Amino acid sequence: MRKDDCIFCKIIEGKIPSAKVYEDDDVLAFLDISQTTEGHTLVVPKEHYDNFLTTPKEIMHKVMDVAQRIGQAEIMVLGAKGINILSNVNKEAGQSVFHFHVHVIPRYDRKGGFTLEMKENPKAKDLSLPALASEIKKGL
Ligand code: AMP
Ligand code: ZN
Repeated sequence: MRKDDCIFCKIIEGKIPSAKVYEDDDVLAFLDISQTTEGHTLVVPKEHYDNFLTTPKEIMHKVMDVAQRIGQAEIMVLGAKGINILSNVNKEAGQSVFHFHVHVIPRYDRKGGFTLEMKENPKAKDLSLPALASEIKKGL
């Protein structure tokens, strides 16, 4: 299924141009227009699903498989030294296009437009990690 107002569905249908890196029956990969770092690529399922959490497992696995291959290629061909793999879920996490996609962001050094910082929560030492882990387990 495609969604009429979805920019990535339009790219998949060829209604909006994109620089394609990979394509098969289920998955498309194309360059992110922002090029946060050189080679920044998006991997998307051809069917519309809103995000990582709502995508059927077998499709999600196909997308991740392509993301892995693109990461390997960027290290081999572009000379990237590392890769960040990222999928934002919902606006609170920074998702701006609500068609599941995985960012493959090659990293060359500490410069470039991409920063990701996981600071230690000042409350971390007051949290009970076993209690938190039990809470999450209840949802599995
Ligand atoms: P997110 O914020 O995680 O939902 O990522 C959406 C990404 O889509 C952003 O990095 C945008 O730069 C990218 N983007 C939006 N429109 C286009 C487009 N027409 N072609 C390529 N990338 C796009
Ligand atoms: Zn879509």
